[in-house]
Amino acid sequence: MAALGLSYTVISSRTESTLTDSLKFYTLLGFEKVVGEDNGHWLRLPSSSPDTTAMVLKLVVNTQASERQALAKDQDWSLQDRQMVLPIQDLQGVQRVLEAQGIGFQTTAKAVVVQDPNYHVIVLQQQEQQDTSKDGLMKRRKKIGVLTSGGDASGMNACVRSVVLYGISKGCDVYAVYEGYQGNRGIQVDGECVLGVVVDGSLVDGGDYIRKMDWRSVTGYLSIGGTSIGTARCMPFKTREGRLQAAENLIKNGIDSLIVCGGDGSLTGADLFRSEWDGLVRELRGADRITQEEATTFKHLTIVGLVGSIDNDMSSTDITIGAVTSLHRICEAVDSVDTTALSHSRAFVIEVMGRHCGWLALMAGIATGADFVFIPEQPPSEDDWETAMCTVARRHRDLGKRKTIIIVAEGALDRHLKPIKVDHIKDVLTDRLGLDTRVTILGHTQRGGSPCAFDRILGTVQSIAAVDAVLASTPETPSPMIGMNNNKVTTKPLMDAVRLTHQVAEAIESQNFEKAMALRDPQFLDELKVFNETTILYDNSILLPAHQQLRIAILHIGAPAGGMNSATRAAVRYSLNRGHTIYGVTNGFTGLAHGSFEKLDWMGVDGWTTCGGSYLGTNRAVPGKDVDMGMIAYQLQKNNIQALMLVGGFEAYVSLVELEKVRSHYPSLCIPISLIPATVSNNVPGTDFSLGCDTSLNVIVSSCDAIVQSAQSSRRRVFVVEVQGGRSGFLAVEGGLAVGACAIYIPEEGIHLPRLQGDVNFLKSLYDTDDPQKSEGRVILRTEGVSKTYTTQVISEILEDEGGARFDSRTAVLGHIQQGNTPSPLDRIRASRLATHSIDFFEEMTRTALDLAHSQQKAPPLELCKNEESVAVIGLCGVEVHARPVKELLPMTDMKNRKPLDEWWHRDRSLVDTMAGRSYHSCKE
Ligand code: ADP
Repeated sequence: MAALGLSYTVISSRTESTLTDSLKFYTLLGFEKVVGEDNGHWLRLPSSSPDTTAMVLKLVVNTQASERQALAKDQDWSLQDRQMVLPIQDLQGVQRVLEAQGIGFQTTAKAVVVQDPNYHVIVLQQQEQQDTSKDGLMKRRKKIGVLTSGGDASGMNACVRSVVLYGISKGCDVYAVYEGYQGNRGIQVDGECVLGVVVDGSLVDGGDYIRKMDWRSVTGYLSIGGTSIGTARCMPFKTREGRLQAAENLIKNGIDSLIVCGGDGSLTGADLFRSEWDGLVRELRGADRITQEEATTFKHLTIVGLVGSIDNDMSSTDITIGAVTSLHRICEAVDSVDTTALSHSRAFVIEVMGRHCGWLALMAGIATGADFVFIPEQPPSEDDWETAMCTVARRHRDLGKRKTIIIVAEGALDRHLKPIKVDHIKDVLTDRLGLDTRVTILGHTQRGGSPCAFDRILGTVQSIAAVDAVLASTPETPSPMIGMNNNKVTTKPLMDAVRLTHQVAEAIESQNFEKAMALRDPQFLDELKVFNETTILYDNSILLPAHQQLRIAILHIGAPAGGMNSATRAAVRYSLNRGHTIYGVTNGFTGLAHGSFEKLDWMGVDGWTTCGGSYLGTNRAVPGKDVDMGMIAYQLQKNNIQALMLVGGFEAYVSLVELEKVRSHYPSLCIPISLIPATVSNNVPGTDFSLGCDTSLNVIVSSCDAIVQSAQSSRRRVFVVEVQGGRSGFLAVEGGLAVGACAIYIPEEGIHLPRLQGDVNFLKSLYDTDDPQKSEGRVILRTEGVSKTYTTQVISEILEDEGGARFDSRTAVLGHIQQGNTPSPLDRIRASRLATHSIDFFEEMTRTALDLAHSQQKAPPLELCKNEESVAVIGLCGVEVHARPVKELLPMTDMKNRKPLDEWWHRDRSLVDTMAGRSYHSCKE
């Protein structure tokens, strides 16, 4: 275009009317008409910055132009050949305009993808911010530093990976600060930090502590325990001089935001650092250690805290990164000790970590069915706790138990703050009970090992929130801490969380144990109750009055899932402590119709908590459909069953619905009926998590780790891994996040050719950018029921053919191993909580009728309760347990697809793609 002296792009339309539409379309994007020499249709995208190349288009009619097709909604538009990439200043504004005009578009982390009226793919990218801020300075690209500090925790690597990948995909530069605060400060000489000056990302004395990360720097991080960028306890950072040096190092590296992953010490330090920042910058400027320009540019420091701690000792978050992996290690160890204790009829006293926090000890106690736990927040109520402990141990032994397991947090105390030590417990058990007692101190094994699925997902989603918090921060916002509350990622003031955490230790010191417990997560008290009442055989202290004691039946339905036995054990033991009589029904509703009731006792369920599968036996028969409803009602009446507990998946949910429907016909069904959701598919309405789904995710994680290792040991290979889930994509989505899958296929989206084509292109682009010297293994997760045509084998064959010399492909069908052998600690704990809450639910639903009958000196009625609330799913809403009436859940259920209409995990779907680098790789220039 001679008049403007600029090069231009020709946009050809096949008709006049499409050209008119195109003119309108490009005007909506911000183009303006300009007059060219030839009186043609010229458009120009105005640019405020002189160094930004103006985009010029010439729109013409060309009947010979190739005809294009509109892209389908479910195709990934960002992977198609694009006509052009347009820098847009107000991308969100343009998005609003497109929405208002009803023009379809897709978004990626960095761009909006749209089709023009000629079906050209146009990528709209946020223009690099070249404008000036209020104080007249050039706005800079965000430079985020990420560091891990204090005690290492599994899942810290997931955090670093996620900050790096998500930060880069958001257009930031990300730097890893190695060795925690020490890396901020200088190099180490003789174990002490010396002051070093960082120049261009390295330390003068040869140290290289602050390194810029790229997409490939964090390959493989997800599966590695501990922290690959190192951590340290840096004493000098506790001094102002140390923090002054850290500030200088950050400024010299151009880092304006710091994401710190550590425990409460590290986050206390981070908070202090930010509060002092202003003064530190002035002092550095005063000493001429930084220039005036640097002092102005780095006037504000953004700090975001991620809680990496195995102790789960931070207030304001339900769970910390690394705690669940540590619990895995502890449970593996206790399960192993258990068998030797059983063989030799020994007692074991096991010390676990937790100086001020008994979370690990208590959860391990619940998960392994230990006989006793000692935690700092709740010392034994008796001064003579030794006698109380021996009484319980003796009582359990008298029942026929051959083993005694006592778990002690390292910071356990008695009411007078005297430490409770493992050796003393051992002496007490040996001397008073004559037990052959051994002490096992688990020590650092608790920190190690590959992170479990939970910590990988937690680290990933929290770090994404941390980067978002960095981008949203202003000088006025207090430093945030990323937490997790009721299964939702939260952002709370770091300072408040640190203050509350310190108050727990203070409360313990001042012997205010009630306050210490109250300051812990709300479910902690509930968990303590669950432990005590399902593990310790009580001396009638929680026994109900005789007229309130029930006859309860429990049965398993559907496929086996980790935690079914744990739930049964907890229900039995808690029931016995309350005075109920409890029956196990063998083989689900088929067994019930045949009257297969078996009375369960304390020792009959000993050891069940650690066992997968279903000891009662389970099948898919549904009452009213596969089993005669009349027979079920008859057997319940004949056996005088007053409450029914179902443990199972969607078939169990359907059973609940069917039983509720016919209550008016069968008086014996007018009893409280509960469902404890248990299925790997996690598709039961009324709960965030079903029993078995965590076990299954961990099987997927460990299998995929092995698969990737095998793949990359020899060649560039893509594994298509088939996971279970029926018509629910839960396992593929959450598993995909946990293993870093590069694609997932889920029933909610289906599979189509264009999608496959896009994935092939994506994989090619990934392998093209890989280090040619390395063979990279990659994983795609496919839910079993996603497509009849595109089977796991077919997808793999397509990839094999299309991959050519770049990569080959194999399949792995995980099948029934996903039901797991040993249930994961989380499944065991969830099972125990849901089971005890289910018994509480039965008591609550029957109390009025039983009390009335008792006051009238009558026998309990057959119809104990008819209200809708008395048929319910006992489920988890985050960490809280709720009874949700089935009638209330029905409108929220997609019966055809056997799942809830709304599922929380859909929010993680797009994160799988983001972490795989879809938008990053497709939008990279
Ligand atoms: P964690 O973060 O796991 O609780 P620490 O308590 O050992 O571990 O703290 C880790 C590091 O955080 C310390 O070595 C120190 O560098 C820094 N830190 C801890 N407490 C403070 C504090 N009060 N002031 C400044 N820095 C601190």
